[in-house]
Amino acid sequence: MHKAQAKKELKKQLNALFKSMDFVSNNFLDDEKIDKKEFEVFFNIYQQLGLAWEFLGLQCKHWDGYKKTRDKKEACRICGKIKGADDFYILLSQKGPKKLGVKLKPNSKKTFETKKDAEIVNDTIDFYGAVVNVDVHNSYKSNLFDKGINMAAERIVNLKEDNVECHIDQHLIHIRLRNKDRKHGRKRYGGFPWEIKRKNLKHFPVIFDFDEKYRFLGLTILK
Ligand SMILES: [Zn+2]
Repeated sequence: MHKAQAKKELKKQLNALFKSMDFVSNNFLDDEKIDKKEFEVFFNIYQQLGLAWEFLGLQCKHWDGYKKTRDKKEACRICGKIKGADDFYILLSQKGPKKLGVKLKPNSKKTFETKKDAEIVNDTIDFYGAVVNVDVHNSYKSNLFDKGINMAAERIVNLKEDNVECHIDQHLIHIRLRNKDRKHGRKRYGGFPWEIKRKNLKHFPVIFDFDEKYRFLGLTILK
């Protein structure tokens, strides 16, 4: 749908909704003679209309800007949403790529007192069975090892698919295989390839990608 048409359609729906809300409010909720049971019914209708308002409002891009309300807040001229108020729900389009949020990075040089204060986003989505977590935070003081240490500001992305977990941050990409059936030794070691004996290296199903100058381009792990 074209933008202008979407806006027109949304305006129409919102106006109809506002009329219904006003109708319920004026005729029933403000009626002092109404009996308690009836009041309850209309109260619930009003709540449900409010929910419809919330969902319709998600489609609004606040095209026409904001107007000042009586309590000195700014409300959208179309949907009435208060500027800066958090949405309860998220609207994703059925077709095409889905976009949720913008790319966030640490945004302060300050070291915050608590993890919560340093947090910019820490959110998870289960997308058709693949789980993605994005954790972006500024620096903060941690009591993790009993004595306070400063945790660095970071943007960390974590992806889980079946038994594979991929962690990406500013400094490294870590892939971890969690296979319950595989009999692990109890200890976990790590090393650069040249530190590992050739006969041991043969256990690792890893292929390095590189160019003619032996610049590292990536790697493949065979499952
Ligand atoms: Zn709006």
